[in-house]
Amino acid sequence: MTADQLRNFTGGEWMPVAGAESVPVTNPATGDTIAIHPMSMNAEVDAAVDAAKAAFWDWWMTPVPTRSAMMFRYRHLVWEARDELAEIIVRENGKTLAEAKGEMLRALQYIEHASAVTETMKGAVTENVGSGVDIEFIREPLGPFAIIAPFNFPAMIPLYFTWAVATGNPVIVKPSEHCPLTTIRLVELAAEAGFPPGVVNMVLGDRSVVERLAVHPDVVGLSFVGSSTVAEAVYKLVTGNAKRCQAQGGSKNHLVVTDSAVIDKCLPNIVSSMLGNSSQRCFAGSNLLVYDSIYDEFMDGFLTEVGRFRLGDGMDPDTTMGPVISPDSQRQLEQAVDTAVAEGSEVLLDGRGAKVEGHPNGNWMGPTVVTGRPGMEIFDRELFGPVRAVQRVSGLDEALSVVNASTYGHTAAIYTEHGGVAREFRQRADVGQVGINIGTPAPIAFYAVGGRKTSFYGSLRGRANDAVDFYTDKKVVVSTWHVDTSQDTGVDPAFEGKS
Ligand code: NAD
Repeated sequence: MTADQLRNFTGGEWMPVAGAESVPVTNPATGDTIAIHPMSMNAEVDAAVDAAKAAFWDWWMTPVPTRSAMMFRYRHLVWEARDELAEIIVRENGKTLAEAKGEMLRALQYIEHASAVTETMKGAVTENVGSGVDIEFIREPLGPFAIIAPFNFPAMIPLYFTWAVATGNPVIVKPSEHCPLTTIRLVELAAEAGFPPGVVNMVLGDRSVVERLAVHPDVVGLSFVGSSTVAEAVYKLVTGNAKRCQAQGGSKNHLVVTDSAVIDKCLPNIVSSMLGNSSQRCFAGSNLLVYDSIYDEFMDGFLTEVGRFRLGDGMDPDTTMGPVISPDSQRQLEQAVDTAVAEGSEVLLDGRGAKVEGHPNGNWMGPTVVTGRPGMEIFDRELFGPVRAVQRVSGLDEALSVVNASTYGHTAAIYTEHGGVAREFRQRADVGQVGINIGTPAPIAFYAVGGRKTSFYGSLRGRANDAVDFYTDKKVVVSTWHVDTSQDTGVDPAFEGKS
């Protein structure tokens, strides 16, 4: 069987890509090529932008309740297809089927929040800011937006487009070249839901597509999610071209386990937070900071739990940890452990060289736990896979100084039953999201997601009401009227309430 050559979706048509290069999309558990992903050239990007631009006015003029109703229809179709989509996620991303189903539920919430546009598009009026003068703001869409997604949530993050579209903007979505198939299915469903041609476009490609979209004069803004280095470069390019940009970057999330934590209750959450989705989550706990007084006892339980993960193909119901995304990623993770050992780390659990029977070509990296400290690469740099570091800390001050010294500022969590400690941590942690006895402070769709330092470039966060603000402009209108209403205006007095 030959793998499908994937196509762009431009102006309501699936278009073959004449790009010179292509890359295989592989199943990370088997190494099998499941599709051929072509790299679009500038002409193909421009065609998608042209289609979006051409669709803009009519889509903007489509009544808001009609746009909302179409989002409801889209939500229904995605709901009906959720299991099929989850299986596509497993095939191209590698996560377990349970994790993929969880992603689909979260993804559906994105559509649900975006559907509330009849409420979220409301403006505001103040009467009589001067004598007979009123002022109001109305929300207007701006035009074609680009949405750039990473590989790790192939349904959720491309669906950032729902807020852009619901608020009246056409979009050009670029999925990750590792995981385009889920997005393709979501775009097919958008067409089925009835979004007019040109409202939802999708272009396949890599860096050059992003860079073309970033500078294209008809693209008004770009929403990016990916690693910090790329987020920074993309943000500078887009804003340097006088466009709106929000760029969510990478992370190094700290979990602090204090002496008042209820360990048996917290442990399952700590473990799943650190290693769920093979740690390929921007919200995954990366560095564990454990109070010295409970370190030995805690680590016994922690390592026992972590050792229970069963590596395998995500479609196998017994699998609790899938592969990492690529052979390159696997190599980088293994090298990071080698470097840590050379820098003095002790390896407490070693997942290097893991094998899965019947899957000789999968990208296997078993859960790995090493000791570390700030200044070591393993502790400071984002590692997107199941290699986690642990450090003893003397108490809250030391834990916070470690959290706040990080160049990232995505999330941090504390496990404690002491309200004062939790409150102090919440205030002093220099991060965008805080967890208290929950190690994965990933906001649901109804809260905006952001971060600080190199974890987020921009001011309006992704998702929720911040997304509505990002994709609309608050146009301010000041008005006064000169007809003397004491005179006959030609309007039926009954209508004017004068009868
Ligand atoms: P990535 O940065 O390699 O790629 C992200 C997107 O950018 C892809 O579509 C890719 O094609 C494109 N891209 C890659 N290099 C580029 C370049 N030089 N210029 C322009 N575009 C480029 O990220 P990834 O490996 O796909 O995803 C994992 C990363 O995403 C991790 O760092 C993770 O923390 C981050 N992430 C962050 C969040 C968040 O909410 N902050 C959410 C999910 C993932």
